[in-house]
Amino acid sequence: MSDGSEAMKNFISAPAWWSTKILTEVARTDDGVGSLLNMLRERGRRPFFIIDGALEGQLGFKPLFERDEVFMFRASESEPRTGDVDRLVALLRNKRDLPDTVVGVGGGSSMDLAKAVGICVANPKQAEAYQGYGLDMKKGSEIWVLPTLNGTGAEVTPIAVLRGPEKKLGINNNFTAPAVAVVDPRLSAGAPKFNRFYTMMDCFFHHYEITKSRTSANDAVRDSIKGLDMAKSVLSRSLAVYDLETAVTSAMASTLGGSSSIGGRVGVSHAISYGLSNSSPKLPHSVAVTISMLACRDIYDDGGYDDTVKFLEINGMPAPRAADYGIDESHITKMTTIALGMEKLWQSHFGDDWQSIVNDRFVRDIYKRVVTM
Ligand SMILES: [Zn+2]
Repeated sequence: MSDGSEAMKNFISAPAWWSTKILTEVARTDDGVGSLLNMLRERGRRPFFIIDGALEGQLGFKPLFERDEVFMFRASESEPRTGDVDRLVALLRNKRDLPDTVVGVGGGSSMDLAKAVGICVANPKQAEAYQGYGLDMKKGSEIWVLPTLNGTGAEVTPIAVLRGPEKKLGINNNFTAPAVAVVDPRLSAGAPKFNRFYTMMDCFFHHYEITKSRTSANDAVRDSIKGLDMAKSVLSRSLAVYDLETAVTSAMASTLGGSSSIGGRVGVSHAISYGLSNSSPKLPHSVAVTISMLACRDIYDDGGYDDTVKFLEINGMPAPRAADYGIDESHITKMTTIALGMEKLWQSHFGDDWQSIVNDRFVRDIYKRVVTM
């Protein structure tokens, strides 16, 4: 196998490979940390860094941890919560010199936290009040991101997913989109196999569900068809050992995952996964969608289910079970209510007539399979 340097060269010089118009400048580089710091300096930004604490021991990230303005986020312990956003916003507002740029460094959770802090700093209410769509918000600090895991798409989406006291829901606003994403596929070299595998699984589900969607924009579907090919090629290999060529493909699939989510809509597996996540805060989103897909064999019988089984096998991953995350029969009613509320996702898969197929019984049956798998 090649050392990936050719793939890296192509990645840096390739014209934009996505069709959807995105709000983010995607800067491709093979020196992520150095390029990020250079660009911040050249543009005269005053940055505040939110960095995934798991990166602390990795030598390549040392220049970031040596900065004064750093908050270490323990992304492995929890998804970002609205309370985390409120605390960081208060911290920033108390500074004599308010930073003009919030930089998120890490996986989807760290980037989402930075995105939420970036916008909320300019808005008076607590973060919880801004979870939703179409809310009137002011533009806050400029948001920059440096992804260290490829596949979330968070580097280009105008969404910051937060867990609040009431619900897990994103702040969806154009001012939440990163202004700049510095993308270097080498940065995922230190991420555990579990994270690299499941992040790409979610990338695969996004692309697959959007290609089957009846309500997604044409550009989004075009991006997802391309991204689906890339995600499948990554997941058809063993990810046990980090490999640069695979990381480059993952980074490209990730950009497409972000761009396609702007005009695209996922479907049934995601609707089902939200019920699961609600019942088990410790269950990672990507694992929740995998469990959901495994319970939807009859709905996704044209590749989605079979590929999921195959990808788990190739990577020696046991099929995840809801029971391992404390989910049992007693949660079915609550999960059914949550999933049924995701109307746009059901409509995305089944079309305008979705209610003739999807009802309480239909969803309940899926969850019955989930808890007995
Ligand atoms: Zn997802």
